[in-house]
Amino acid sequence: MIAELICVGTELLMGQVLNTNAHFIAKELAPSGIDMYHQIVVGDNPKRLTEAVETALSRADVVLLSGGLGPTDDDLTKETVAKALGKELVLFDDEWDKLQRWFSSKGRTIAPNNKKQAMFPKDAIILDNPNGTAPGCIMESDGKAAILMPGPPRELQPMFRNHVLPYLLKKSGHRLYSREIRIFGMGESDVTYRLDDLIKNQTNPTIAPYAKTGEVTLRITARCQNEAEGEALVAPTIETIKATLGDVVYDTDGHELAEVCHKMLIENGKTLAVAESCTGGRLADAFINYPGSSAYFMEGDVTYSNDAKMRCLGVRAETLDTVGAVSEECAREMADGCRRHAGTDYALSTTGYAGPDGGEPGKPAGTVFIALASETGTIVKRLNLFGDRSRIRHSAVLNALDLLRRNICTK
Ligand code: AMP
Ligand code: MG
Repeated sequence: MIAELICVGTELLMGQVLNTNAHFIAKELAPSGIDMYHQIVVGDNPKRLTEAVETALSRADVVLLSGGLGPTDDDLTKETVAKALGKELVLFDDEWDKLQRWFSSKGRTIAPNNKKQAMFPKDAIILDNPNGTAPGCIMESDGKAAILMPGPPRELQPMFRNHVLPYLLKKSGHRLYSREIRIFGMGESDVTYRLDDLIKNQTNPTIAPYAKTGEVTLRITARCQNEAEGEALVAPTIETIKATLGDVVYDTDGHELAEVCHKMLIENGKTLAVAESCTGGRLADAFINYPGSSAYFMEGDVTYSNDAKMRCLGVRAETLDTVGAVSEECAREMADGCRRHAGTDYALSTTGYAGPDGGEPGKPAGTVFIALASETGTIVKRLNLFGDRSRIRHSAVLNALDLLRRNICTK
């Protein structure tokens, strides 16, 4: 099946708005097996839009349109497409009611020109827009379809994912099955370099990498008839990736690192306490975020001052006087003291310079020590993190979770 995209809006041609809808739709469509050979950007001009629609309909099965569904005079996508397909617009009472209710719930008065947002060809399929006033719609004609979506990305994206993509997949006879591989401890460029051949040569399934702070996710997507076939297509690729990347892969079903630790602690019947300085409660929060954490999470101590580290965790004054609070020794004593007084199987600690200022010679901002105490001893790790304060604190949390995950793993 061939799809073509028309993005409508003079603002796109003038460079006032970046055409992110084209990027989003192309990326979402790529693994679906639906081909897109052309994209058009056209201004808010009925004559040129008509030409674009006719051209697109002549060479594609489905024409996707974004923009021009608003209430103002320059919003003319629906009128123009309907005319090109020989359809008349009529008022949909339900949609008009909904629109009136939406305005009154916001305490706003509805203008007469809003009425056109409730007008569609009588055989149109309406696409709900919970994030705005303009519903989308599908107009079918001679086995082809035009799919109209609102311009604002926060309205278009959920509409595309929830309504348009399922419609397209159904029409093309395909479905998509995907799984997510989660990776911690290897950067995106390193991951893609190691998987270069695999990524380049795969067509079904496809492998799409994306990164967020400190983590890389690979989405493996197969085009298939049903879930069983999808799993059969995806599974060998997941095994190959795991074998290639090794233990940086912490999950193959899209779970967060904290959730993986949460499950491991519950399944192994182990308990945990945390002692935090620079992460200031975020590590505790990562666990308590999941229901059922009371099964293993005993306590979190936020010991920010030296005094608190000594009083609550038994960190030695000598340690603080000689090597300071941001040190391997201090992290170790924090984890040991926490585990001792909480009586848990594991204790994690964090201490570091979250920046932007601070640090000391040899330990700039971003220097963080994390430790894990358990019955087999205490492991300490030095991290050299970068980014702003929030990013450094977040990375410290992820690293502490990963230290725990690896330790429970190898037992
Ligand atoms: P419209 O539905 O044409 O009234 O568009 C409303 C707003 O959506 C525009 O002012 C833009 O900010 C945004 N918009 C429209 N088309 C796009 C696009 N292709 N990519 C990103 N944003 C868009
Ligand atoms: Mg517009």
